[in-house]
Amino acid sequence: MSVPEPAVHVAFLTSAGMGHLKPCLRLLSVFLRHGCKVTLIIPKPTVTLAESNLISRLCSSFPHQVTQIDFNLTPLDPTTVNATNDPFFLQYETIRRSVHLLSPILSSLSTSLSAFVVDAFLVSPILPIIEKMTCPSYIQFTSSARMLSFLAYVSVLADSDSAAQPHPTKFVGDAIQIPGIKLPIPRSSVPPPFLLEGTNSFQRMIMQDSPNLKKHDGVFMNSFEELEGEALAALNEGKVVKGLPPVYGIGPLMACEFENVDESQKGCMSWILERLNERAEGSVVYVSLGNRTETRRDQIKDMALGLIACGYSFVWVVKLKRVDREEDEGLEDVLGSELMSKLREKGVVVKEFVDQIKILEHPAVGGFVTHGGWNSVTEAIGEGVKILIWPQGADQKFNAELLRNSGVGIWAEEWGWGTQKVVEGKEIAKRIKEMMSNECLRVKAREMKDAARKACGVGGSCEVIIKRLIEEWKRNA
Ligand code: UDP
Ligand code: UDP
Repeated sequence: MSVPEPAVHVAFLTSAGMGHLKPCLRLLSVFLRHGCKVTLIIPKPTVTLAESNLISRLCSSFPHQVTQIDFNLTPLDPTTVNATNDPFFLQYETIRRSVHLLSPILSSLSTSLSAFVVDAFLVSPILPIIEKMTCPSYIQFTSSARMLSFLAYVSVLADSDSAAQPHPTKFVGDAIQIPGIKLPIPRSSVPPPFLLEGTNSFQRMIMQDSPNLKKHDGVFMNSFEELEGEALAALNEGKVVKGLPPVYGIGPLMACEFENVDESQKGCMSWILERLNERAEGSVVYVSLGNRTETRRDQIKDMALGLIACGYSFVWVVKLKRVDREEDEGLEDVLGSELMSKLREKGVVVKEFVDQIKILEHPAVGGFVTHGGWNSVTEAIGEGVKILIWPQGADQKFNAELLRNSGVGIWAEEWGWGTQKVVEGKEIAKRIKEMMSNECLRVKAREMKDAARKACGVGGSCEVIIKRLIEEWKRNA
């Protein structure tokens, strides 16, 4: 009698914000497609409505294959976290401090785990938990291989500093030259909280996580050879830091069926798509700064003027509040009725959460003005859309350097971080025209799209890696 093959069971632990949840659920879907049983552990309550809606759609699409487990967080006293009022950051901190509550959840699982995949923000806090587990642990890194190289290399930089307590403001020089990676990282591109005087939680997290990456069994990256071959190789060949676990380029993680919204809940998407249907191929600019960046009040008017003057139609998603649950103002109150009607003559402006992929994949969309969040960047690449990047914070300047270097995007470097100054409407119009009319960008974006589709398609690098891992886990079961 043949013994049934052990089922492969993978658990995922996500953190906060769509920028972490979407890639987690897309990777989870890849494992579902390969016949694995999946458990999704969700920190509750979620920060945004967009997150809870997406989780509900996944679970109702796969009622039998996905087990959803709530990870009820211990509320955090915000006064115990220094210098932040960012609700996403507070959630990371709450998750990090509630992690000990995971042990009973994990030991109550009905089938043993083949692998545990945890979000990038949990590299260190999860260690005491995984030490008690028998299955391998993987980090799902939500940023680029360039950012992972920075994260891994920071501990080497700190160790080379002779000060008793090395501080990033001192050991980060004018530029960081990471071994194996040609393009240096200028000091001005480093995520701003890392270079603040004193200490903050971001610095603590990076410094703690940097040496701890080695304690995991692998890192999943939403990236691929043609986009970041050099950094992926440098990481995997031990050039950046010796002893890192395998870094798996399983990207680009493409949108999945379950992300589709019901007809009844489509809201503004229906008419955005109708408007796009009326436009010529490649003639519309899509503008969005991601799901957690509120457009600065003093910048909104110039953004509007820039779009009106750029000569192209547009879809502009404005976020007035960082967290969607708190949106309470109308766009007209902020922009004024005159500007609103001028905007509506030329394009579409909304403040709702949109289905970004549906916009990017529409043939009328030719360019994307983005803050450069890694998901937005990889989604645009997957759809062959040219990019104008305006970094607002975090790792986004790393992404800007990478895009400029690979020829699929331009970087409005002179605008600095989005938080630094008000960029005038005419400057914005100029840069949009430059992106939209640039034929080399269009060709390069098309080539990168083909490479992206190959990487995530049948027989591509993602499939090869996932199949190999599944076989390995089965052997070790
Ligand atoms: N997103 C979306 N609709 C919106 C805003 C964002 O679908 O109105 C999605 C976007 O497609 C991406 C994610 O939310 O998958 C945002 O992640 P990213 O890394 O680009 O930026 P973040 O929001 O984390 O800064
Ligand atoms: N952040 C922080 N402390 C943390 C984690 C994040 O202050 O422990 C802030 C920081 O300002 C950073 C931002 O959150 O710039 C977003 O971090 P990241 O880009 O890594 O998250 P993502 O955009 O991928 O959600």
